[in-house]
Amino acid sequence: MSMNSVGRPTRPEAVESGYQPGGRGLLQDEPLLFELDGWDKTGVDLADVGDDLAGFDGLGGLVRSGPIGLPGLSEPETVRHYVRLSQKNHAIDLAIYPLGSCTMKHNPRLNEKMARLPGFADIHPLQPQSTVQGALGLMDRLAHWLKTLTGMPAVALTPKAGAHGELCGLLAIRAAHEAKGQGHRKTVLAPTSAHGTNPATAAFCGYTVVEIAQTADGRVDLADLEAKLGDHVAAIMVTNPNTCGLFERDILEISRLTHAAGAYFYCDGANFNAIVGRVRPGDLGVDAMHINLHKTFSTPHGGGGPGAGPVVLSAALAAYAPTPWVVHDDDGFRLQETPEAEAEAAFGRMCAFHGQMGMYVRAYAYMLSHGADGLKQVAEDAVLNANYLKARLSDLMSPAFPDGPCMHEALFDDSWLEGTGVTTLDFAKAMIDEGFHPMTMYFPLVVHGAMLIEPTETEPKQELDRFVEAMRRLATAAKAGEAERFRAAPVMAPLRRLDETLAARKPRLRWAPVAAEAQAAE
Ligand SMILES: *Cc1c(COP(=O)(O)O)cnc(C)c1O
Repeated sequence: MSMNSVGRPTRPEAVESGYQPGGRGLLQDEPLLFELDGWDKTGVDLADVGDDLAGFDGLGGLVRSGPIGLPGLSEPETVRHYVRLSQKNHAIDLAIYPLGSCTMKHNPRLNEKMARLPGFADIHPLQPQSTVQGALGLMDRLAHWLKTLTGMPAVALTPKAGAHGELCGLLAIRAAHEAKGQGHRKTVLAPTSAHGTNPATAAFCGYTVVEIAQTADGRVDLADLEAKLGDHVAAIMVTNPNTCGLFERDILEISRLTHAAGAYFYCDGANFNAIVGRVRPGDLGVDAMHINLHKTFSTPHGGGGPGAGPVVLSAALAAYAPTPWVVHDDDGFRLQETPEAEAEAAFGRMCAFHGQMGMYVRAYAYMLSHGADGLKQVAEDAVLNANYLKARLSDLMSPAFPDGPCMHEALFDDSWLEGTGVTTLDFAKAMIDEGFHPMTMYFPLVVHGAMLIEPTETEPKQELDRFVEAMRRLATAAKAGEAERFRAAPVMAPLRRLDETLAARKPRLRWAPVAAEAQAAE
């Protein structure tokens, strides 16, 4: 049997999407590993075993009888395959990554160096704790910084993402209500502009989600909040600064009303980058808040993680924090694995071991290299950069909330595109042809055709200006009636308009030799 019988499949769906095989602009097209030729060769120089193994049955009858079905690539072929694939990713190391809400900032190389120190990188979670005192000490220091920066008395380090942190916070809230005989509270309130993970988490915990209306200036509608609060409400989930890039000015009143109704205040802290070092959520009456280390504290994200989403907790919820946590006594640091002392009513664990050690190291390195004053400047520069973009684009594009400055992200709607025949999606695709990754689109849902741009503090003015110039060129072209160009975009990308809904709903995660079957049928 020839290994070549599993040939390289054609990609009919790719042709429909405008896919053009071959290379362009010094970038090579690259098929999947399984689609590469070379099934009949190997990159390893193995001695021919000849008949030496004839009759060998040391594998209990499991000796392979057919070809192994893997492409046999040489080292340079293998290296090129993966480097070519890597070039298909946009990266923060390539250019501005203006995804609003995602806080795609530079990952300092110092963090990477620290995370690779053998004392952090080569340890095992089941190692005796006496041999990992430094790592436990670092977790303790990280916890200290997170509690200090947020003004909260407790922190659960283990959640592995923002959404996982939300789950942690709501589980603590549920445990606290149940302990007080308030288990009948089954509703969670969240603003219409909330990130999708908020209602998803609440629903996952068995809560019914009720939306809080938004005012014309993009904030929580206090009257609506008050009307919806009551004995049935377990918690509110509010993001601050919110997903419109605006600070909730009435935050103290929001927390007062919430507590007066016997509910807890969950704050989505994904936007902490905008206020770190300037505002302590604990002072605002927050009971639980996740912090995306992979946003505010510069640990890498994208590509599926790993992320880290520690949750800070108020005194009212601290007793319910999940295990484990680090304690320090006469024998040094140790992990408290069972409910006791400060978390005597711990609701359980969030993950098998102790969380994302590599992310703890990176985040802590980031904190130490900035210091308290530097972290404050992070927030100031992030807000300054976003306002610079807002100011430089507002004459051509329509800011969703024109009055006053924004926080760390600038939000535009699509009213400026009215009558041009160009949609937010078309505009975003045209940005790709200009060499820029698009901003977040169609989120938050409360703004029509939303374009949410978050530059972060790590973009220098030069890069912001390059971005602004490209945006202005495109905006002018859209207004000048070049709709066709926008509808055709992107023309420079190897793949053009994809059916993103189909890709999300029915992802093809497993390779199957389609063509081989088709060939056999012929
Ligand atoms: C990123 C984000 C989340 C979710 O965080 P993950 O780490 O991606 O799970 C939640 N809320 C807001 C506002 C976010 O921006």
